[in-house]
Amino acid sequence: MIECSFCKIIVGKLSSNKIYETEKILAFAPLKEDIIAKGHMLVIPKKHYADFYDIPKEELHHIVDAIKIISQKLKQKYNTDGINLLHASGKAAQQSCFHFHIHLIPRSQNDGLDTWPKTGYKEGNFPGVYNKISNLF
Ligand SMILES: [Zn+2]
Repeated sequence: MIECSFCKIIVGKLSSNKIYETEKILAFAPLKEDIIAKGHMLVIPKKHYADFYDIPKEELHHIVDAIKIISQKLKQKYNTDGINLLHASGKAAQQSCFHFHIHLIPRSQNDGLDTWPKTGYKEGNFPGVYNKISNLF
């Protein structure tokens, strides 16, 4: 785990701007060059889990609880109009640090951010795809 920069932040070997912390989670500001909006932060478990497949449900609950608390506070104190929660698991999803994390991105009207691609899905046979997926359960 020593190679993981987020684990280094947790133990204090790398500095960070800590925003909110409990026994289980840490919320901190990304590196300055990675900040995409006012108040953008990362919420991580203090235990190392690589991604969404790896993290246990109980740890996810701690993350979601923290995001709820932080979001409510931002809405109350900073009149945040909305939030985006952004997560990537796996290289195909453009995960860059393989310590589970969720980006919490406060949003305001006309902030100029566009977090959803407008390219559309070009391949056909949607009912077939979703039927196959629903048959997995
Ligand atoms: Zn880690």
